[in-house]
Amino acid sequence: MGFPGASSTDQEKQSARRVRVLLPLPLAGPYDYRVPPDLPLIPGDFVQVPLGKQTRVGVVWDPFEPGTEDSSAVVVDSRLRDIEARLDTWRMTDSMRRFVDWVSAYSMAAPGAVLRMAMSIPEALSPGRPRIVYRLAENPPDYRATAARTRVVAELTDRPARGATDLARDSGTGVGVIRGLADIGVLEAVELSDDAPLPQPDPRLPRPKLSDDQADAAADLVAKTQNGDPSVTLLDGVTGAGKTEVYFEAVAAALEAGKQVLVLLPEIALTAQFLDRFEARFGTAPQEWHSDVPRARRRRVWRAVADGRARVVAGARSSLFLPFQDLGLIVVDEEHDLSYKQEDGVVYHARDMAVVRGRLQNAPVILVSATPSLETTANVEAGRYDTLHLPARHGGADLPAISVVDLRRDSPDRNCWISPPLKQALADTLAQEEQSLLFLNRRGYAPLTVCRACGHRLECPQCTAWLVEHRFAGRLACHHCGYTAPKPDACPECGAEDRMVACGPGVERLAEEIDTLFPKARVELMTSDTIWSPTAAAEIVRRVQAHEIDILIGTQLVAKGHHFPMLTLVGVVDADLGLNGGDLRAAERTYQLLHQVAGRAGREDRPGRVLLQTHHPDHPVMAALIEGARDAFMAAEAEQRQAGNWPPFGRLAAIIVSGPDESHVEGVARALARSAPQAQDFKVLGPAPAPLALLRGRHRRRLLVRTTRSVRIQDRLRAWVGTVKPPNSVRVQIDIDPYSFL
Ligand code: ADP
Ligand code: ZN
Repeated sequence: MGFPGASSTDQEKQSARRVRVLLPLPLAGPYDYRVPPDLPLIPGDFVQVPLGKQTRVGVVWDPFEPGTEDSSAVVVDSRLRDIEARLDTWRMTDSMRRFVDWVSAYSMAAPGAVLRMAMSIPEALSPGRPRIVYRLAENPPDYRATAARTRVVAELTDRPARGATDLARDSGTGVGVIRGLADIGVLEAVELSDDAPLPQPDPRLPRPKLSDDQADAAADLVAKTQNGDPSVTLLDGVTGAGKTEVYFEAVAAALEAGKQVLVLLPEIALTAQFLDRFEARFGTAPQEWHSDVPRARRRRVWRAVADGRARVVAGARSSLFLPFQDLGLIVVDEEHDLSYKQEDGVVYHARDMAVVRGRLQNAPVILVSATPSLETTANVEAGRYDTLHLPARHGGADLPAISVVDLRRDSPDRNCWISPPLKQALADTLAQEEQSLLFLNRRGYAPLTVCRACGHRLECPQCTAWLVEHRFAGRLACHHCGYTAPKPDACPECGAEDRMVACGPGVERLAEEIDTLFPKARVELMTSDTIWSPTAAAEIVRRVQAHEIDILIGTQLVAKGHHFPMLTLVGVVDADLGLNGGDLRAAERTYQLLHQVAGRAGREDRPGRVLLQTHHPDHPVMAALIEGARDAFMAAEAEQRQAGNWPPFGRLAAIIVSGPDESHVEGVARALARSAPQAQDFKVLGPAPAPLALLRGRHRRRLLVRTTRSVRIQDRLRAWVGTVKPPNSVRVQIDIDPYSFL
């Protein structure tokens, strides 16, 4: 950008300089601004600049090509506008700026769109007003100790002061109880600045004695952390092998070295148990970062990360864009997890970008999984990543015995989904006063509602998708766009009354069946419809651990890292569910998910068992699960992908053309196909209507580009896609390394 040429006075030539400023907006690149005479600026400074009639905050970006133009370059254009002010705050580090540029170049998103993720809480750039927090009074009066009051006092004993809302939540009571305790002088209200010191995790607290295998793995990771070795290491081991315990040693090493640590976790449901565990090891919880953290708290976390008070952050994928000043270690736990791929806005994979961030920062990256992705396995094979194995469950607990139920032989009753062998296993487990988990990755009551008179299926008016019945909520819902409607009594097509029937099971329907089969059992659902906050998740985990629940029924939310000692049976209601559809990773994903679900069984001394209900007992996924033959299964998968030049052996990009007008969308998609470069190493497939041919009222067409690994796919895409100028209503979205093919 910028305006070359033009004249100016000698006076200006001597005093004015220009700099490039990147704004957190989806613009093509940084804009040039003039620096007023006595404003010292260097790249990374946050500055306030005019843009149109507005004022915006941006970041002084680096010269275009080092050496050819720099911040002292003479301004020769009077049309350039002045920087208004430099914010009195931190600088964005060099490595963060290079990270923003890197993510932008790789994902083909505008640099300003990436910068926006790195400035997600703009108000965090200035300090906020102090807030009121509560701590225990030094000399409390005598008071009537109710259960709730006792919990509040326990919550504050040797723990940090907190605001009324946080404290009420943490001690499971209401704000009124907190205020009441303050009124009678048991608690003391104090003002706390935004930037008050935070409790620091202590790396030297006593820790469990590691087994030999664990100690070897830990020593390797500790050495890499101490040396600031920008390496990537896969920490591979079955669930319960102690992977967390091992990477905690690397966390401790980074803390000892005075560095910051980022632990990426896949989903909010995991964090409750994780935070407790971290606190048990390091004396205080890490800082949390995900969309459920209230904005005011995220603002404080952002500031604490920027000035180094926050030493460890446990967060979802967006925490990669936090302003760490001195990051010494990145851990990506459950590295194979799909939620690391961001599909909206800037499309990126947090695991892959974590590797980039680590490299730019000279920080080691640890990828953790019991079922590593083929991407990571291939990087290990190619020698790009190291690997460490933890072969056995800690304490020798056996892995659960996995077997299949052949639904073709042992079929459930009509409109039922529990086969006789699974029913028997549930009954046995109940009789032994142990717990069971039923896994079905389908929310709601039934995935489809059909009219028995005319066969009409209830579909979303805005998407190519069936409406899912949610009986508890009494509504039909589209899981793609959120459209909801009441369930009609009469068929909207033929008008027949009372002929609409539910087809197929969701977890709600399964709960109904279990209630009929085992009326005395205490049954609970765990899905994103019933668990909408980390607190709710923590509560249900607590109830399972306290054995207040006999049978837990859940979607993939239950598959995540929970540790339930009394859970000895896992029933997978439909093991085939993920295998359908034209997704190149379907088998790999199904294996990972089912393996993870199976890992919930028999975590301690009681042996666990897993029953997989399937119509394809001989499918390689089932065979691998039964035999525990993960590596052979993955090797076979790798061979297939290699033969077809599919990822991770070839590169893939998806182009999604969408818009409200189908003919415009079709026109752009065809124009893209016509102008596609013809080359041996650059294959363009499509356009084809996407499986979700209509999404939120937008028609969609997909093209798929496949190249060899040596091709710079972004460069070729830029040269090609840039030549087609779509009308305003049509959006062309590029997804590098797509994981979703809908
Ligand atoms: P993973 O992360 O591989 O699933 P964890 O680190 O969660 O495994 O360990 C599983 C369980 O075993 C946890 O309860 C953990 O505290 C315990 N554990 C692991 N290693 C040890 C050890 N060396 N000493 C004591 N307990 C351990
Ligand atoms: Zn919809």
